[in-house]
Amino acid sequence: MNAEEFRRHGYELVDWIARYLEGVEQYPVRSQVSPGEVRSKLPLVPPSEGESFEAIMRDVDAIIMPGITHWQSPNFFAYFNGNNSYPSILGELLSAGLGVQGMLWATSPACTELETHVMDWLVEMLALPDAFRSTSTGGGVIQDTASTASLCAVLAARERATAGASNTEGVVGGTLVAYTSSQAHSSIEKDIRVAGIGSANLRAVDVDEMFAMRPEDLVKLMDEDIAAGRRPFFVCATVGTTSSEAIDPVAAIGAICRERGVWLHVDAAMAGTAALCPELRWIHDGLEYADSYVFNPHKWMLTNFDCSAFFVRDRAALIGALSIMPDYLRNQASESGAVIDYRDWQVQLGRRFRALKLWFVIRAYGVSGLQEVVRRHVGLTKEFAGWVEASDDFELAAPVPLNLVCFRHRGGDEVNQRLMDKLNASGRLYLTHTRLDDKLTLRLSIGQRGTERRHVEAAWEAMTATASSLS
Ligand code: PLP
Repeated sequence: MNAEEFRRHGYELVDWIARYLEGVEQYPVRSQVSPGEVRSKLPLVPPSEGESFEAIMRDVDAIIMPGITHWQSPNFFAYFNGNNSYPSILGELLSAGLGVQGMLWATSPACTELETHVMDWLVEMLALPDAFRSTSTGGGVIQDTASTASLCAVLAARERATAGASNTEGVVGGTLVAYTSSQAHSSIEKDIRVAGIGSANLRAVDVDEMFAMRPEDLVKLMDEDIAAGRRPFFVCATVGTTSSEAIDPVAAIGAICRERGVWLHVDAAMAGTAALCPELRWIHDGLEYADSYVFNPHKWMLTNFDCSAFFVRDRAALIGALSIMPDYLRNQASESGAVIDYRDWQVQLGRRFRALKLWFVIRAYGVSGLQEVVRRHVGLTKEFAGWVEASDDFELAAPVPLNLVCFRHRGGDEVNQRLMDKLNASGRLYLTHTRLDDKLTLRLSIGQRGTERRHVEAAWEAMTATASSLS
C-alpha cells in the first residue's frame, strides 16, 4: 500500500467507522456466533501474495462483523462498559501513524511529557491528592490495564516492605501478607500470585450488608497475622467493586494502614471517573491515605481500551521495584536525572503513545462535556433503580451508588438465569450477572456514551415483558 492508496483507504475506513458507530444500535448487541464459527471462515494458510484493501474489507463485513459484540451499542449494559469516542479513535489513529515507542524520554520526548501533563490534568479533574502530581513526590503513569497497575502497586509495596531485598532475594518462604475484601476484583489475587506473594497470603476481608469492606475485620485479620509472626504489607481497597459497585470505607481503612505502615492501594477502575463531578467526589473520601490509586479512562472516560491511569504517592518505591538499567539503554537525558523514563514505572519495557487519545478526549469534550456523560448515566441509573423498587416482580439486590443496578426477579435463580439468557439471545440488549448473598443477581451497567433514557426504558420494558412470558 503506498501513501496515495493509504490516503484513499484511510478516508474509506473512517467513513466505515462513522457509519458503524452511527448505526451500532441496529446490531444484536451480543455476537450470536458459536465457538469456532469465525475461524471456520478464514483460510487455513496466509496469502502468499498481497490482497486488495477491498478484499480485506469484504471479509471484515462477512466474517469479522458477525463475531463482534457491540460494546459501543447504547444497549450494552453488561460487565462494566468500555467506551470509545470519536476524538479517542482519532488520537489512537495518530498514535499508530506516528508509530513511536516511548520507553524512554529520549525515544520520543513528547510521548513522555504529554503523558506527565495529562496525568497531572487528571489529578486536577478528579481532585485527587496533590501528592499524585508529578511536581510532588509521586506522579501518574498510563498502564495498559488496572490489573497491571495493581501489580505495579503490589511490587512497589513489596519493595518498600523489604527495603529492596525482595528484588534480589525473592519472596519465597517470606512472611508478607496482603488484604483485600471478598468483593475485590480477581486481578488482585492474580497480581499477588504474580508478585510471588502467593494466594495463600492474601486475606479476604469480610464485607458488610452494603458489600463494602469491614475495617474491624481488617484489623482482626492483621492482628492474627502479626501474632503468628507474619507481616501485613499491602491492602487493596475498592471504590466501585465489580460485582455491585460497592465503595469500601477508604478513610477508615487508610487510617489502619497508616498506623501500621502498610501500603494502601485503591482500585477505582470503573467508578473513579465519577469524581469528575464535585457532587460525586465523596467516593474518594480518605484517598489522601492512599499510596497508590488506579482508575480506567478506558471504561467510563470515553477513551478507548487500553488506557489505565495509575498514580503513586512516592515514585521512588515504584521505580526502585521496576528499574533496571542495561548498558544499551543508557543515555544522557536519563543520566541527567532531568527526565522521566516511564519504562521504570511499568513491567514492560516498550510503551505505546496512549496519552494522545486521552489528551484528544479531554480537549474535545472539556471537563464539562465529560461531566455531562457521567451525570446522565448516574441519573438514568437512579431512574432504573426506582422502577425496580416500584415493581412487584423485581427487587434491588444492593445499594446503587453510581451507575450499576444489581437486581433480581423474585422468582429465584432459575427464573433469573432464563430471563437473562432470553434477553441476551434476543440481541436487543446485553446484561450480565453476579452472585450476591448467594443468589444469582442481574447487573445493569449504564455507562455507554450513547445510552439515553429511551434505551434504558426499552431495556426495562424488555425485562418485564420477557419475565411475564416466562411464567
Ligand atoms: N478492578 C475493578 C474494580 C474492575 O471492575 C475491573 C474490571 O472490570 C478491573 C479491576 C480490571 O480491569 P482491567 O481490565 O483494566 O485490568
